[in-house]
Amino acid sequence: MRLIGRSREQLKLLGDYLGLCRSGALKELSKRLNHRNYLLESPHKFSVADLQQIADGVCEGFLKALIEFASQHVYHCDLCTQRGFICQICHHQDIIFPFEFDTTIRYARHPQLCTAL
Ligand SMILES: [Zn+2]
Ligand SMILES: [Zn+2]
Repeated sequence: MRLIGRSREQLKLLGDYLGLCRSGALKELSKRLNHRNYLLESPHKFSVADLQQIADGVCEGFLKALIEFASQHVYHCDLCTQRGFICQICHHQDIIFPFEFDTTIRYARHPQLCTAL
């Protein structure tokens, strides 16, 4: 359940990117969401369909596939990559994104820091 909450937060951050992108990627993501657009808006809201998926053990895979699709878009999209960040401490050339929970840390004042420190 904790992992699912994490994936939902990730998906929400990705949704923010796709929502501002003019490429129409959000439409494609919405299609994959099966009309469950609240998944992008409220990471803490769970519908009966979500709870059913969790009970069936397929929720994680479902979210993973969405995250995979959305992050692949962001990484390959000229518009979205412009909205990434550079680590404020090491100023490494790699662009980092807030949804990269495994490799970045967010602090209140600094949008992004990588964990390569
Ligand atoms: Zn984009
Ligand atoms: Zn860094």
